[in-house]
Amino acid sequence: MKISNQKPFISGNWKMYKTIPEALELVKAIKGASPKLTEAELVVIPPFTILSEVAKIIEGTSVQLGAQNVFWEEKGAFTGEISPFMLKDAGCQYAVIGHSERRQYFGETNEIVNRKIKAVLAYELIPIMCIGESLEEREKEKTIEKVETQISEGLKGIGKEEISRIIIAYEPIWAIGTGLTATPAQAEEVHSFIREKLAEKYGNETASCAILLYGGSVKPANTYSLLKEKNINGALVGGASLEADSFIQITEDAIKAYKEKK
Ligand code: PEP
Repeated sequence: MKISNQKPFISGNWKMYKTIPEALELVKAIKGASPKLTEAELVVIPPFTILSEVAKIIEGTSVQLGAQNVFWEEKGAFTGEISPFMLKDAGCQYAVIGHSERRQYFGETNEIVNRKIKAVLAYELIPIMCIGESLEEREKEKTIEKVETQISEGLKGIGKEEISRIIIAYEPIWAIGTGLTATPAQAEEVHSFIREKLAEKYGNETASCAILLYGGSVKPANTYSLLKEKNINGALVGGASLEADSFIQITEDAIKAYKEKK
């Protein structure tokens, strides 16, 4: 699957929320709005238990499906894990890898992230690799260093063709689920650094096509100003993606900002 940053990329991470009936209600509302949101790439990322139900609802629409996590093996005695092959089977096109909650609570390292990215690419799923600094690291002015290490270790052994199938989400940990958002200038500084790093490694053309998302308390009130920044191509939205109205509003604001910066 080819990816492009010609449109804003808006993805909703539902985390560990929603029963099947609640999820179906949400995705039906998003599906209903999707014909007027075709100027954005729209992706919902429900819990595993709901993936195939959601896949049925969005079939034939512009809404796409992602998973919140994945294991690197195809099958085997790995109790509790879900493989890229299974995600494909459930109808996914994307897999979030290395979300800060996975890194923080489940010990995911850059090495694990790298392994998962390679496995997912082999199954033609698009990895959304999450990176970002803690509050302490920001206060000690270690943000760029942290992000640089996460990129170089997370993308170790990834070639030019593969990088064009990877999405990177910059999510400062201090802004996730806290209501605190990076200012557009703070976010842009890191995004432009990420693009520069990609350019150094893979060349300008490849870097300019990369999809770089911002995540961390994205909501209707801040989407427009974040998406107006040159190097921000979309958002990974947590809390505000749990309600159809706010997710749709975020997508509309992203479309508006994207048109104006072209
Ligand atoms: C996320 O889950 O990746 C996220 C950024 O959450 P929130 O929007 O709630 O901060």
